[in-house]
This record gives sequence, structure tokens and C-alpha cells, in this order.
Amino acid sequence: MPEHQATFHFHDHLNDFLLPERRGQAFAFGFDGSPAIKDTIEAIGVPHTEIGQIVVNECMVDAQYRLRPDDRVHVYPPQRQIDLHTAVNGSARPAFVADVHLGRLVAYLRMMGFDTVYATDSDDPELAEISSRERRILLTRDLGLLKRRIVTLGYFVRETDPLRQLEEIIRRFDLLHFPMGALRCTHCNETLVEVDKDAIAHRLPGNTLAYYDAFHQCTACDRIYWRGSHYQKLERFVNSLRDEMA
Ligand SMILES: [Zn+2]
Repeated sequence: MPEHQATFHFHDHLNDFLLPERRGQAFAFGFDGSPAIKDTIEAIGVPHTEIGQIVVNECMVDAQYRLRPDDRVHVYPPQRQIDLHTAVNGSARPAFVADVHLGRLVAYLRMMGFDTVYATDSDDPELAEISSRERRILLTRDLGLLKRRIVTLGYFVRETDPLRQLEEIIRRFDLLHFPMGALRCTHCNETLVEVDKDAIAHRLPGNTLAYYDAFHQCTACDRIYWRGSHYQKLERFVNSLRDEMA
């Protein structure tokens, strides 16, 4: 048996990480010694990247606060997830790094013009390192990865369907609030530039040549982009979200 107990109450979507019987209510949690409160919160299941405010016995504390016997702890998510990012990066557009399981989401974010590294051959330490070094928000469904100490900007993606994941990220990070950035190559994340139809006409399939007039080209891999059905589908989805959130 642990020597002490404290009472924890997690709020809002932090409950996603808890056992069902702990959600939405106070529960007792045992501990030994005087651990940093961040470590106890992670032991309960909530990665530190999801923590906004911690209130102990009605006083706000930081993540290094040492837990004491019979403390009454409330843990809140950040008001807006993006605040964690802007606190570090000013008002710059957020940039992301995603783990290997989020390929479709990565393509959508790039189509929306968000700089997103997709490191398919990186292991966990490398992903954490990229996030930390380049101030990128680490997107993953791997809780262990988010609990790495070096990761300060991270987010656990709840949804499993790629379009629903995109909606989740748009809402949590308030992405529609940022001005549109340069479009990015869905394959290599480099920015696209406009290109004359005449210059690339010989590379286009016949029906594309007939129906489209505006084209972009990747500055790194030379792939050619036009507003085909995939792009239009994404655009409709984002516009409907924009209307809903207005
Ligand atoms: Zn490219």
C-alpha cells in the first residue's frame, strides 16, 4: 500500500485518458514520498503535454509542485491547445511532426498549407527530438511518446478516421484562425509554386488538360498539383467547418 493519498479531479477532455470509473469526478490516488505532481498525473494516465492548469487546495501550482498527503488536486486542459504552442512560438503558424500511423492526416494538413514533418523511418526518440528542436507539435496516438520528458509540444490524437482527425486538430489548435499559408506537397512537405499550364501540359493526363487551368508544382520533387476531386473534397469539408465555427 502507498503511504499517502491525494484526491484528483480531471476536467473536460482530460477524462479521455482515465479509467471509466475515474471520469468526471474526484478519486483518491496513492503515492509514496513527495513526487513531482507532473509524474503522478502521468502515472494516472494523462501525458504532461495535455496539462493546462493544476490547482492544489485552491492554489495554482506548476508541474514541479511536490505532492503532499491529502492534497486536493484539480487538473484542467489548456483553454485552447494552441496556447501551448503560441506561448513558445509567438503568433507563427503552428508546425507539426506526426508519427508513422497518421499518414492521411499529414497529407490533409499539408494540403491546408501547414508545415508537417512525417518521419516514417524515425523511431520514438527521433520524433521527440524533432519536436523539441524544431518547436513542432508532436501528433501521435502513442501515449508513451508524449510522456517523454523532452516533448513539450505534443497532442494525443483521439479520433481514428483521418478526416475526423483533421477536424479534431483544426478545432483543438484553432487552425482556421491562421491566414492560409503556401500550399505544400503532400509527398515531401515542400512549398508549391504556381506554374504555367503551357510549361507542364505535356505531363498532364488528357482529362486534366481539358478541365483544369491552374497548376502548382513542388519546388523539391516537381510533382504537379491541381484542384482535383481530393482537393475539392477537403475544401468542402474545411469550409463547412468554417461555417459551423463562425
Ligand atoms: Zn514534393
